[in-house]
Amino acid sequence: MPQRMEVTETFSGNNAYLHCAKICALGPRPTGSAAYAAQVEYVKEQLEREGWRVKIEEFEPYPGRKMRNVHAVFGEENGTRKMLLSCHIDTKGQGNKAILGADDGASGEAVLLELGRVLARPQNARLAANVELVFFDGEESFGERITPEDGLFGSRYDVERRGESLPDMMINLDMVGGAGKTIGVPVWDTPPGMCEQYCKAVDALGLPEERWTLHFGSFWDDHRPFAEAGVETLNLIASFKGANWWHTQRDNMSRISATSLGETGALVMQLLHQLLGVDQSS
Ligand SMILES: [Zn+2]
Repeated sequence: MPQRMEVTETFSGNNAYLHCAKICALGPRPTGSAAYAAQVEYVKEQLEREGWRVKIEEFEPYPGRKMRNVHAVFGEENGTRKMLLSCHIDTKGQGNKAILGADDGASGEAVLLELGRVLARPQNARLAANVELVFFDGEESFGERITPEDGLFGSRYDVERRGESLPDMMINLDMVGGAGKTIGVPVWDTPPGMCEQYCKAVDALGLPEERWTLHFGSFWDDHRPFAEAGVETLNLIASFKGANWWHTQRDNMSRISATSLGETGALVMQLLHQLLGVDQSS
């Protein structure tokens, strides 16, 4: 079990694990809760320390229900970034039904925070200048399942807010820290070019193909409103249907692995190099 943050040139699964543990120590973080607010402060503090400009976007999907997305950019404030890296930070359930959401919530957030540290290093300046980090509120539905009216509140609002100023691409992370996870990118709402880039990255890193797969279907997740608006999206999401931990109290730190978080982080860095690394002067 890692004990303290390390300063490395590349993505550290240990650091991401520590972020995940610190976030979970706040308890369940459903939208509107005090723990949700505390985690927003944690995200802000961690990113500002690395030189990111953090902005909190408050919105009200319906009267009396305030939600908050967190955005961060590196360097100049102006201009739409080509690539959006996102996750959701709210966790499922309210009151005594609230779950900890170590994987379904904190894992993507932990990877994004560690990516924030790595991207802030001078050798990654070019990548960082083309990226915006977004932490969505309200991904989880109030009812049992996400529907066209319930859930994805943060991402739906964000697409609407941006209007014409949408990024070209988006990589969304959800449930990316479970030990021995199987990622299944939903092919039906992923452009073929993004599927190819994903397979190329898995291959380049020598990750096991049986655990980094394509899912022949689609998911309601935060990439969806962006995909529908024409953004080239890639949703990295672990198999969860039929899993005995999903949306239960078993989704706690015992299922999280630093190795698994490390693989996800390395894969995202590889994708960023492939998608943003070549000279793009436009
Ligand atoms: Zn969920």
